[in-house]
Amino acid sequence: MADFFNNFAMTIDGQSISSATTVDVINPANEDVVAKAPDCSREQLDQAVAAARKAFPKWRATPLEERRRLVAKMGEVIAQHADDFARLFTLEQGRPLKGARMEVDFSAFWCGAIAQQEIPVEVTEDSEQRRSETRHVPLGVVAGIVPWNFPFNLAIWKIAPALLTGNAIVLKPSPFTPLTMLKLGELMQEHLPAGVFNVISGGDQLGPWLSAHPGIDKISFTGSTPTGKRVMQTAAENLKPVTLELGGNDAAIVMPDVELDKVADKLFGASFANSGQLCVAIKRMYIHEDVYDQVADALVTRARAAKVGNGLEQGSNYGPIQNRPQFEKVKDLIRDARENGLNFLVGGDVPEGGKGYFVPLAIVDNPPEDSRVVQEEAFGPVLPLIKFSDIDDVIERANASDYGLAGSVWSADSQGAIDIAARLETGTVWVNETQYIMPWTPFAGHKLSGFGVENGREGLLEFTKPQTITVAK
Ligand code: NAD
Repeated sequence: MADFFNNFAMTIDGQSISSATTVDVINPANEDVVAKAPDCSREQLDQAVAAARKAFPKWRATPLEERRRLVAKMGEVIAQHADDFARLFTLEQGRPLKGARMEVDFSAFWCGAIAQQEIPVEVTEDSEQRRSETRHVPLGVVAGIVPWNFPFNLAIWKIAPALLTGNAIVLKPSPFTPLTMLKLGELMQEHLPAGVFNVISGGDQLGPWLSAHPGIDKISFTGSTPTGKRVMQTAAENLKPVTLELGGNDAAIVMPDVELDKVADKLFGASFANSGQLCVAIKRMYIHEDVYDQVADALVTRARAAKVGNGLEQGSNYGPIQNRPQFEKVKDLIRDARENGLNFLVGGDVPEGGKGYFVPLAIVDNPPEDSRVVQEEAFGPVLPLIKFSDIDDVIERANASDYGLAGSVWSADSQGAIDIAARLETGTVWVNETQYIMPWTPFAGHKLSGFGVENGREGLLEFTKPQTITVAK
């Protein structure tokens, strides 16, 4: 591979493959074309799936220790190229270099941690008559479909456990952010057996083609709820199992005894990290009326000090919105808030005419519960602060959402906070922090935020099916 930043190719059957047509990858900070990514044809998709099917029997028969070694190797390869990966990440995704590097480093760590996971074997009966044991065997060929907001780590969430458990994978990054995964595919060609790890890229048609492909045995999808529903419908055709990690509208509940000096930075960071383009960002902050003004002031001060800018420039803390359609959605939400007379404590104006999809950090002052800015997943740097006085009422409001991804409770009384956490209808709840997600912790969306689990023992097992062997004595 001559140049990390040019000549992007797919990896199919262990080979670098170009395509007849290409898809422009746009730098969201200046709207320049960063690179041209391959536009996978149907025939090339067939080749990728066929290569994975061919590689699967040998890969599943490869000793677990060797698969562990190769998953860990992927982490080492990522770490070796971390600087280049981070720069490429910023160019295509927009996030400032420091945050890009964190995601790359975290992905390297993630591979190492997944490589150590155990695939359990359970003895369900060991009597005088017989012995039954249940193993977990791979499914075959997994399709990994990922979004643009955390394009590296969310792909690793699929690649590492799929490979460890003995599956082959065809990975499809988002058309907006395919470059880092294309490079990873190429870098791993010399380490992994051909066909075990295929990376394909293309336009909007490729996701539906991949999820409908009869040669796929499982779809592991991360993205929006509407797309997740379509994936599940398509998968029903040949009863493919699916794991869906979807949207969220996470509520934070800030109690009157919150230790603001300890947690103000965390509350702010959790709301605006990645410019709000985070499935588990705080998207609605319910603040007890006794501390509303202090919390609001602390957040506004930090928002004023934050620098939104090109992620390759020194001092930029927050990058642009990743792509044009999402930029338009965020602007529309702000326009709606303005038209409905909502008060912005900071932000709320998006400069028109310049290059790049920049939205200044915005905080909305106590909007009505039914306003769009409260009800919808903004997926941008627009945070509504909402006053509450009664805990039962705020729990009801937090739960009155179709989403159930995650939530958080902020209080000096951790037992009281745990009691509140237990009443929230979400897959994950944090107390006095957010966004702590680890390879060993099951991550599952409730309600329309998902179906199935990623990470932890449960997440690993979603890449397998049980096989019970019973031996009569
Ligand atoms: P998206 O649903 O538009 O796209 C996600 C991926 O699906 C992309 O690779 C896309 O090309 C592909 N795709 C599109 N249509 C498809 C179809 N019909 N069949 C198969 N694949 C198809 O989502 P996005 O805009 O890229 O990402 C933002 C969304 O992702 C937000 O809602 C966010 O909350 C969610 N998200 C969830 C998690 C989580 O873990 N729960 C993590 C990150 C992002």
